[in-house]
Amino acid sequence: MNVNEYPLFALSREHQEIRRVIREICDDKIAPAAAAVDEEARYPQEAHDALLASDFFAPHVPEAYGGVGADALATVLVIEEIARADVSASLIPAVNKLGSLPVQIAGSEELKRKYLGALAAGEGGFSYCLSEPDAGSDAAAQKTRAVRDGAGPDAGWVLNGTKRWITNAGASQFYTVLAVTDPEKRSRGISAFVVEKSDEGVSFGAPEKKLGIKGSPTREVYFDNVHIPADRLIGEEGRGFEYAMKTLDHTRITIAAQAVGVAQGALDYALGYVQERQQFGKPIASFQGIEFMLADMGMKVEAARQMTYAAAGRSERGDADLTFFGAAAKCFASDVAMEVTTNAVQLLGGYGYTRDYPVERMMRDAKITQIYEGTNQVQRIVMARQLLAGVQSNI
Ligand SMILES: Cc1cc2nc3c(=O)[nH]c(=O)nc-3n(C[C@H](O)[C@H](O)[C@H](O)COP(=O)(O)OP(=O)(O)OC[C@H]3O[C@@H](n4cnc5c(N)ncnc54)[C@H](O)[C@@H]3O)c2cc1C
Repeated sequence: MNVNEYPLFALSREHQEIRRVIREICDDKIAPAAAAVDEEARYPQEAHDALLASDFFAPHVPEAYGGVGADALATVLVIEEIARADVSASLIPAVNKLGSLPVQIAGSEELKRKYLGALAAGEGGFSYCLSEPDAGSDAAAQKTRAVRDGAGPDAGWVLNGTKRWITNAGASQFYTVLAVTDPEKRSRGISAFVVEKSDEGVSFGAPEKKLGIKGSPTREVYFDNVHIPADRLIGEEGRGFEYAMKTLDHTRITIAAQAVGVAQGALDYALGYVQERQQFGKPIASFQGIEFMLADMGMKVEAARQMTYAAAGRSERGDADLTFFGAAAKCFASDVAMEVTTNAVQLLGGYGYTRDYPVERMMRDAKITQIYEGTNQVQRIVMARQLLAGVQSNI
Protein backbone atom coordinates (compact mmCIF):
# COMPACT_ATOMS: atom_id res chain seq x y z
CA MET A 1 0.00 0.00 0.00
CA ASN A 2 1.16 3.49 -0.87
CA VAL A 3 2.01 5.18 2.42
CA ASN A 4 -0.06 8.23 1.41
CA GLU A 5 -3.17 6.07 1.19
CA TYR A 6 -2.65 4.56 4.63
CA PRO A 7 -5.72 5.23 6.82
CA LEU A 8 -4.03 7.36 9.45
CA PHE A 9 -5.87 7.91 12.70
CA ALA A 10 -5.29 11.62 12.31
CA LEU A 11 -7.47 14.70 11.99
CA SER A 12 -8.08 16.07 8.50
CA ARG A 13 -6.67 19.50 7.62
CA GLU A 14 -10.19 20.97 8.00
CA HIS A 15 -10.59 19.54 11.48
CA GLN A 16 -7.15 20.77 12.51
CA GLU A 17 -8.09 24.23 11.27
CA ILE A 18 -11.32 24.19 13.31
CA ARG A 19 -9.29 23.30 16.39
CA ARG A 20 -6.87 26.15 15.73
CA VAL A 21 -9.64 28.73 15.28
CA ILE A 22 -11.68 27.74 18.33
CA ARG A 23 -8.55 27.51 20.49
CA GLU A 24 -7.67 31.09 19.57
CA ILE A 25 -11.17 32.25 20.57
CA CYS A 26 -10.90 30.34 23.85
CA ASP A 27 -7.49 31.83 24.65
CA ASP A 28 -8.66 35.38 23.88
CA LYS A 29 -12.24 35.46 25.16
CA ILE A 30 -13.24 32.41 27.20
CA ALA A 31 -10.30 31.33 29.38
CA PRO A 32 -9.66 34.83 30.83
CA ALA A 33 -13.25 34.96 32.22
CA ALA A 34 -13.45 31.35 33.48
CA ALA A 35 -12.36 31.99 37.09
CA ALA A 36 -14.73 34.97 37.50
CA VAL A 37 -17.64 33.04 35.92
CA ASP A 38 -17.07 30.28 38.51
CA GLU A 39 -16.51 32.62 41.45
CA GLU A 40 -19.61 34.71 40.68
CA ALA A 41 -21.67 31.71 39.48
CA ARG A 42 -22.78 33.79 36.51
CA TYR A 43 -23.68 32.95 32.92
CA PRO A 44 -20.57 33.13 30.69
CA GLN A 45 -21.87 35.99 28.55
CA GLU A 46 -18.39 36.64 27.08
CA ALA A 47 -18.34 33.07 25.79
CA HIS A 48 -21.93 33.31 24.55
CA ASP A 49 -21.11 36.45 22.54
CA ALA A 50 -17.81 35.10 21.21
CA LEU A 51 -19.40 31.80 20.14
CA LEU A 52 -22.28 33.59 18.39
CA ALA A 53 -19.89 35.92 16.57
CA SER A 54 -17.76 33.00 15.33
CA ASP A 55 -20.61 30.59 14.39
CA PHE A 56 -19.68 28.16 17.18
CA PHE A 57 -22.90 28.78 19.18
CA ALA A 58 -24.70 25.81 17.61
CA PRO A 59 -22.22 24.59 15.00
CA HIS A 60 -24.03 21.29 14.38
CA VAL A 61 -27.05 22.91 12.66
CA PRO A 62 -27.04 21.76 9.00
CA GLU A 63 -26.45 24.30 6.24
CA ALA A 64 -29.94 23.57 4.86
CA TYR A 65 -31.36 25.27 7.97
CA GLY A 66 -28.97 28.20 8.03
CA GLY A 67 -26.22 26.62 10.15
CA VAL A 68 -22.56 25.97 9.39
CA GLY A 69 -23.13 22.20 9.28
CA ALA A 70 -20.22 21.09 11.45
CA ASP A 71 -19.98 17.29 11.44
CA ALA A 72 -19.96 15.28 14.67
CA LEU A 73 -16.16 15.31 14.98
CA ALA A 74 -15.93 19.06 14.32
CA THR A 75 -18.59 19.66 16.99
CA VAL A 76 -16.61 17.47 19.41
CA LEU A 77 -13.44 19.48 18.72
CA VAL A 78 -15.27 22.75 19.41
CA ILE A 79 -16.69 21.47 22.71
CA GLU A 80 -13.38 19.87 23.77
CA GLU A 81 -11.48 23.10 23.20
CA ILE A 82 -14.02 25.24 25.05
CA ALA A 83 -14.06 22.79 27.99
CA ARG A 84 -10.28 23.00 28.16
CA ALA A 85 -10.79 26.67 28.98
CA ASP A 86 -14.15 26.58 30.79
CA VAL A 87 -16.55 23.63 31.09
CA SER A 88 -19.50 25.95 31.87
CA ALA A 89 -19.06 27.70 28.52
CA SER A 90 -18.76 24.40 26.67
CA LEU A 91 -22.33 23.65 27.70
CA ILE A 92 -23.55 26.37 25.33
CA PRO A 93 -22.89 24.46 22.05
CA ALA A 94 -23.34 21.09 23.81
CA VAL A 95 -26.84 21.85 25.10
CA ASN A 96 -27.84 23.60 21.88
CA LYS A 97 -27.14 20.29 20.16
CA LEU A 98 -28.84 18.22 22.87
CA GLY A 99 -31.97 20.38 22.88
CA SER A 100 -32.38 20.65 19.13
CA LEU A 101 -31.33 17.17 18.00
CA PRO A 102 -34.80 15.63 18.56
CA VAL A 103 -36.13 18.22 16.07
CA GLN A 104 -33.32 17.41 13.65
CA ILE A 105 -33.87 13.65 14.02
CA ALA A 106 -37.66 13.51 13.85
CA GLY A 107 -39.22 16.96 13.35
CA SER A 108 -41.30 17.97 10.33
CA GLU A 109 -39.66 20.11 7.66
CA GLU A 110 -41.57 23.17 8.95
CA LEU A 111 -40.44 22.56 12.52
CA LYS A 112 -36.82 22.17 11.39
CA ARG A 113 -36.93 25.32 9.28
CA LYS A 114 -38.48 27.36 12.07
CA TYR A 115 -36.52 26.19 15.12
CA LEU A 116 -33.18 25.03 13.72
CA GLY A 117 -33.22 28.23 11.66
CA ALA A 118 -33.85 30.37 14.75
CA LEU A 119 -31.09 28.53 16.65
CA ALA A 120 -28.59 28.96 13.81
CA ALA A 121 -29.50 32.65 13.53
CA GLY A 122 -28.68 33.08 17.23
CA GLU A 123 -32.27 34.01 18.14
CA GLY A 124 -32.03 31.76 21.20
CA GLY A 125 -30.53 28.63 22.70
CA PHE A 126 -32.21 25.21 22.91
CA SER A 127 -32.58 23.18 26.12
CA TYR A 128 -33.57 19.55 26.67
CA CYS A 129 -36.25 18.68 29.25
CA LEU A 130 -36.26 14.99 30.08
CA SER A 131 -35.41 14.64 33.81
CA GLU A 132 -37.91 15.22 36.61
CA PRO A 133 -37.64 15.30 40.41
CA ASP A 134 -38.68 11.62 40.64
CA ALA A 135 -37.51 10.43 37.22
CA GLY A 136 -33.73 10.58 36.67
CA SER A 137 -32.08 7.31 35.67
CA ASP A 138 -35.58 5.90 35.21
CA ALA A 139 -36.58 8.67 32.83
CA ALA A 140 -39.57 6.73 31.48
CA ALA A 141 -41.21 7.11 34.92
CA GLN A 142 -41.83 10.80 34.20
CA LYS A 143 -45.14 12.44 35.04
CA THR A 144 -45.30 15.62 32.95
CA ARG A 145 -48.54 15.32 30.98
CA ALA A 146 -49.60 16.52 27.55
CA VAL A 147 -53.28 16.19 26.71
CA ARG A 148 -55.14 17.14 23.54
CA ASP A 149 -56.50 20.65 23.59
CA GLY A 150 -59.92 19.86 22.02
CA ALA A 151 -60.81 17.36 19.30
CA GLY A 152 -59.85 16.86 15.63
CA PRO A 153 -56.50 16.60 13.85
CA ASP A 154 -55.67 20.29 14.37
CA ALA A 155 -56.16 20.16 18.13
CA GLY A 156 -53.12 21.41 19.99
CA TRP A 157 -51.81 20.27 23.36
CA VAL A 158 -51.90 21.38 26.99
CA LEU A 159 -48.80 20.65 29.08
CA ASN A 160 -48.61 20.36 32.86
CA GLY A 161 -45.69 19.23 35.00
CA THR A 162 -42.21 19.92 36.35
CA LYS A 163 -38.83 19.20 34.75
CA ARG A 164 -35.72 19.27 36.91
CA TRP A 165 -31.99 19.92 36.35
CA ILE A 166 -32.53 21.67 33.05
CA THR A 167 -29.29 23.12 31.73
CA ASN A 168 -29.49 26.69 30.49
CA ALA A 169 -33.14 26.88 31.61
CA GLY A 170 -34.21 30.50 31.47
CA ALA A 171 -31.24 31.40 29.26
CA SER A 172 -32.65 29.33 26.36
CA GLN A 173 -35.59 30.47 24.24
CA PHE A 174 -36.51 26.97 23.00
CA TYR A 175 -37.11 23.67 24.82
CA THR A 176 -37.61 20.10 23.71
CA VAL A 177 -40.01 18.73 26.32
CA LEU A 178 -40.83 15.08 26.85
CA ALA A 179 -44.33 14.47 28.20
CA VAL A 180 -46.66 11.55 28.75
CA THR A 181 -49.46 11.41 26.19
CA ASP A 182 -50.64 7.88 27.07
CA PRO A 183 -50.00 6.83 30.68
CA GLU A 184 -50.88 3.19 29.92
CA LYS A 185 -47.91 2.68 27.61
CA ARG A 186 -44.92 3.84 29.71
CA SER A 187 -42.00 4.70 27.38
CA ARG A 188 -44.22 4.19 24.30
CA GLY A 189 -46.71 6.69 25.67
CA ILE A 190 -44.23 9.58 25.80
CA SER A 191 -44.15 12.28 23.11
CA ALA A 192 -41.76 15.16 22.39
CA PHE A 193 -42.76 18.81 21.89
CA VAL A 194 -41.12 22.14 21.22
CA VAL A 195 -42.02 24.71 23.88
CA GLU A 196 -40.93 28.34 23.82
CA LYS A 197 -39.84 30.34 26.83
CA SER A 198 -42.47 32.93 25.91
CA ASP A 199 -45.38 30.43 25.92
CA GLU A 200 -47.87 31.38 28.60
CA GLY A 201 -47.58 29.15 31.68
CA VAL A 202 -43.83 28.45 31.36
CA SER A 203 -41.75 29.50 34.38
CA PHE A 204 -38.44 28.63 36.05
CA GLY A 205 -37.16 27.72 39.52
CA ALA A 206 -34.22 29.34 41.29
CA PRO A 207 -30.76 28.40 39.94
CA GLU A 208 -29.35 25.29 41.67
CA LYS A 209 -26.30 25.91 43.88
CA LYS A 210 -23.84 23.42 42.45
CA LEU A 211 -20.41 21.95 43.14
CA GLY A 212 -19.14 22.90 39.68
CA ILE A 213 -20.15 24.22 36.24
CA LYS A 214 -21.36 27.22 38.20
CA GLY A 215 -21.57 29.32 35.05
CA SER A 216 -24.15 27.02 33.54
CA PRO A 217 -27.61 27.78 34.93
CA THR A 218 -29.47 24.65 36.06
CA ARG A 219 -33.10 25.24 37.02
CA GLU A 220 -36.47 23.58 37.25
CA VAL A 221 -38.93 24.32 34.46
CA TYR A 222 -42.64 24.49 35.27
CA PHE A 223 -45.48 23.96 32.82
CA ASP A 224 -48.77 25.28 34.11
CA ASN A 225 -51.54 24.73 31.52
CA VAL A 226 -49.21 25.60 28.65
CA HIS A 227 -51.23 25.59 25.40
CA ILE A 228 -49.16 24.81 22.31
CA PRO A 229 -50.28 24.31 18.71
CA ALA A 230 -50.49 20.83 17.12
CA ASP A 231 -47.49 21.45 14.87
CA ARG A 232 -45.13 21.64 17.89
CA LEU A 233 -45.31 17.85 18.28
CA ILE A 234 -41.90 16.44 17.23
CA GLY A 235 -42.33 13.46 14.90
CA GLU A 236 -45.04 11.01 15.89
CA GLU A 237 -47.12 10.81 19.03
CA GLY A 238 -45.79 8.07 21.36
CA ARG A 239 -42.26 8.05 19.90
CA GLY A 240 -40.77 10.86 21.98
CA PHE A 241 -38.83 8.60 24.32
CA GLU A 242 -37.27 6.80 21.36
CA TYR A 243 -36.16 10.17 19.90
CA ALA A 244 -34.85 11.24 23.32
CA MET A 245 -32.70 8.09 23.65
CA LYS A 246 -31.47 8.33 20.06
CA THR A 247 -30.45 11.92 20.77
CA LEU A 248 -28.40 10.79 23.78
CA ASP A 249 -26.54 8.22 21.64
CA HIS A 250 -25.16 11.17 19.67
CA THR A 251 -24.78 13.75 22.42
CA ARG A 252 -23.05 11.58 25.04
CA ILE A 253 -20.05 12.01 22.75
CA THR A 254 -20.17 15.74 23.43
CA ILE A 255 -20.00 15.01 27.17
CA ALA A 256 -16.97 12.82 26.45
CA ALA A 257 -15.53 15.84 24.61
CA GLN A 258 -16.08 18.05 27.67
CA ALA A 259 -14.32 15.43 29.79
CA VAL A 260 -11.32 15.23 27.44
CA GLY A 261 -11.14 19.02 27.32
CA VAL A 262 -11.18 19.60 31.08
CA ALA A 263 -8.68 16.77 31.63
CA GLN A 264 -6.36 18.29 29.02
CA GLY A 265 -6.71 21.73 30.61
CA ALA A 266 -5.72 20.34 34.01
CA LEU A 267 -2.81 18.36 32.56
CA ASP A 268 -1.53 21.43 30.67
CA TYR A 269 -1.58 23.49 33.83
CA ALA A 270 0.09 20.79 35.92
CA LEU A 271 2.83 20.29 33.31
CA GLY A 272 3.79 23.94 33.56
CA TYR A 273 3.64 23.97 37.34
CA VAL A 274 5.82 20.92 38.02
CA GLN A 275 8.62 22.40 35.94
CA GLU A 276 8.52 25.67 37.88
CA ARG A 277 7.99 24.43 41.42
CA GLN A 278 11.19 23.60 43.27
CA GLN A 279 11.49 21.31 46.30
CA PHE A 280 14.64 19.62 47.63
CA GLY A 281 16.59 22.00 45.38
CA LYS A 282 15.11 20.71 42.10
CA PRO A 283 11.98 21.12 39.97
CA ILE A 284 9.44 18.58 41.23
CA ALA A 285 9.11 17.35 37.61
CA SER A 286 12.49 15.67 38.05
CA PHE A 287 11.16 13.21 40.64
CA GLN A 288 10.20 9.86 39.18
CA GLY A 289 7.07 9.67 41.33
CA ILE A 290 5.85 12.84 39.60
CA GLU A 291 6.94 11.64 36.14
CA PHE A 292 4.89 8.47 36.53
CA MET A 293 1.81 10.50 37.45
CA LEU A 294 2.27 12.75 34.41
CA ALA A 295 2.75 9.76 32.12
CA ASP A 296 -0.45 8.08 33.35
CA MET A 297 -2.40 11.32 33.01
CA GLY A 298 -1.20 11.91 29.43
CA MET A 299 -1.78 8.29 28.44
CA LYS A 300 -5.33 8.25 29.76
CA VAL A 301 -6.30 11.62 28.28
CA GLU A 302 -5.06 10.43 24.89
CA ALA A 303 -6.95 7.11 25.14
CA ALA A 304 -10.13 9.02 26.08
CA ARG A 305 -9.61 11.41 23.17
CA GLN A 306 -9.12 8.62 20.60
CA MET A 307 -12.22 6.84 21.86
CA THR A 308 -14.25 10.05 21.71
CA TYR A 309 -13.17 10.78 18.14
CA ALA A 310 -13.88 7.18 17.12
CA ALA A 311 -17.36 7.53 18.63
CA ALA A 312 -17.86 10.84 16.77
CA GLY A 313 -17.14 9.04 13.49
CA ARG A 314 -19.84 6.52 14.37
CA SER A 315 -22.26 9.33 15.20
CA GLU A 316 -21.63 10.99 11.84
CA ARG A 317 -22.12 7.75 9.91
CA GLY A 318 -24.98 6.49 12.11
CA ASP A 319 -23.20 3.16 12.64
CA ALA A 320 -24.93 0.22 14.32
CA ASP A 321 -22.44 0.27 17.20
CA LEU A 322 -23.02 3.96 18.02
CA THR A 323 -25.00 3.22 21.20
CA PHE A 324 -22.10 1.21 22.64
CA PHE A 325 -19.45 3.70 21.54
CA GLY A 326 -21.37 6.76 22.76
CA ALA A 327 -21.83 5.22 26.22
CA ALA A 328 -18.25 3.88 26.33
CA ALA A 329 -16.68 7.19 25.31
CA LYS A 330 -18.76 9.18 27.80
CA CYS A 331 -18.10 6.74 30.65
CA PHE A 332 -14.38 6.26 30.00
CA ALA A 333 -13.58 9.90 29.28
CA SER A 334 -15.49 11.18 32.32
CA ASP A 335 -13.78 8.68 34.64
CA VAL A 336 -10.44 9.82 33.16
CA ALA A 337 -11.40 13.48 33.64
CA MET A 338 -12.16 12.91 37.31
CA GLU A 339 -8.89 11.05 37.88
CA VAL A 340 -6.71 13.46 35.90
CA THR A 341 -8.15 16.63 37.42
CA THR A 342 -7.83 15.15 40.94
CA ASN A 343 -4.20 14.27 40.21
CA ALA A 344 -3.59 17.76 38.87
CA VAL A 345 -4.72 19.15 42.24
CA GLN A 346 -2.35 16.66 43.88
CA LEU A 347 0.56 17.82 41.71
CA LEU A 348 0.04 21.40 42.86
CA GLY A 349 0.02 20.32 46.51
CA GLY A 350 -1.60 22.84 48.87
CA TYR A 351 -1.72 25.46 46.11
CA GLY A 352 -3.87 23.13 44.03
CA TYR A 353 -6.46 23.11 46.77
CA THR A 354 -7.05 26.86 46.54
CA ARG A 355 -9.02 29.02 44.14
CA ASP A 356 -5.84 30.89 43.27
CA TYR A 357 -5.13 28.12 40.77
CA PRO A 358 -7.55 26.76 38.13
CA VAL A 359 -7.19 23.03 38.80
CA GLU A 360 -9.61 22.88 41.75
CA ARG A 361 -12.31 24.42 39.50
CA MET A 362 -11.49 21.87 36.83
CA MET A 363 -11.80 19.04 39.37
CA ARG A 364 -15.20 20.33 40.53
CA ASP A 365 -16.34 20.82 36.92
CA ALA A 366 -15.16 17.36 35.85
CA LYS A 367 -17.46 15.61 38.32
CA ILE A 368 -20.65 16.45 36.41
CA THR A 369 -19.45 14.54 33.34
CA GLN A 370 -19.84 11.31 35.34
CA ILE A 371 -23.44 12.21 36.21
CA TYR A 372 -25.42 13.92 33.46
CA GLU A 373 -26.80 12.46 30.23
CA GLY A 374 -27.03 9.24 32.24
CA THR A 375 -24.78 8.41 35.18
CA ASN A 376 -21.78 6.19 34.53
CA GLN A 377 -23.65 3.31 36.17
CA VAL A 378 -26.36 3.80 33.53
CA GLN A 379 -23.70 3.93 30.78
CA ARG A 380 -22.38 0.57 31.99
CA ILE A 381 -25.93 -0.86 31.82
CA VAL A 382 -26.24 0.46 28.25
CA MET A 383 -22.87 -1.03 27.23
CA ALA A 384 -23.57 -4.41 28.81
CA ARG A 385 -26.92 -4.66 27.01
CA GLN A 386 -25.26 -3.89 23.70
CA LEU A 387 -22.57 -6.51 24.31
CA LEU A 388 -25.14 -9.12 25.34
CA ALA A 389 -27.18 -8.30 22.22
CA GLY A 390 -24.10 -9.18 20.17
CA VAL A 391 -23.32 -5.69 18.83
CA GLN A 392 -19.75 -5.72 17.50
CA SER A 393 -17.39 -2.90 16.69
CA ASN A 394 -17.62 -2.06 12.98
CA ILE A 395 -13.83 -1.86 12.58
C1 LIG B 1 -25.86 20.03 36.55
C2 LIG B 1 -26.84 19.11 35.93
C3 LIG B 1 -27.34 19.38 34.65
C4 LIG B 1 -28.30 18.54 34.09
N1 LIG B 1 -28.84 18.88 32.85
C5 LIG B 1 -29.93 18.18 32.39
C6 LIG B 1 -30.65 18.64 31.25
O1 LIG B 1 -30.30 19.65 30.60
N2 LIG B 1 -31.76 17.96 30.86
C7 LIG B 1 -32.20 16.85 31.53
O2 LIG B 1 -33.21 16.28 31.12
N3 LIG B 1 -31.52 16.39 32.63
C8 LIG B 1 -30.41 17.02 33.08
N4 LIG B 1 -29.74 16.58 34.21
C9 LIG B 1 -30.24 15.41 34.92
C10 LIG B 1 -29.28 14.22 34.91
O3 LIG B 1 -29.26 13.62 33.64
C11 LIG B 1 -29.71 13.28 36.05
O4 LIG B 1 -29.33 13.92 37.26
C12 LIG B 1 -29.10 11.92 35.94
O5 LIG B 1 -29.64 11.23 34.85
C13 LIG B 1 -29.30 11.08 37.22
O6 LIG B 1 -30.62 11.14 37.67
P1 LIG B 1 -30.88 11.45 39.23
O7 LIG B 1 -30.13 12.69 39.55
O8 LIG B 1 -32.34 11.45 39.45
O9 LIG B 1 -30.20 10.25 40.00
P2 LIG B 1 -30.85 8.82 40.33
O10 LIG B 1 -31.45 8.22 39.11
O11 LIG B 1 -31.72 8.98 41.53
O12 LIG B 1 -29.56 7.99 40.72
C14 LIG B 1 -28.96 8.03 42.02
C15 LIG B 1 -27.79 7.02 42.01
O13 LIG B 1 -28.32 5.70 41.77
C16 LIG B 1 -27.66 5.12 40.66
N5 LIG B 1 -28.58 4.25 39.93
C17 LIG B 1 -29.86 4.53 39.54
N6 LIG B 1 -30.38 3.49 38.88
C18 LIG B 1 -29.43 2.51 38.84
C19 LIG B 1 -29.36 1.18 38.32
N7 LIG B 1 -30.38 0.65 37.64
N8 LIG B 1 -28.23 0.49 38.52
C20 LIG B 1 -27.17 1.01 39.18
N9 LIG B 1 -27.17 2.26 39.70
C21 LIG B 1 -28.28 3.01 39.52
C22 LIG B 1 -27.21 6.30 39.81
O14 LIG B 1 -26.15 5.92 38.95
C23 LIG B 1 -26.78 7.28 40.88
O15 LIG B 1 -25.48 6.99 41.33
C24 LIG B 1 -28.73 17.38 34.77
C25 LIG B 1 -28.21 17.10 36.04
C26 LIG B 1 -27.30 17.95 36.62
C27 LIG B 1 -26.81 17.64 38.02
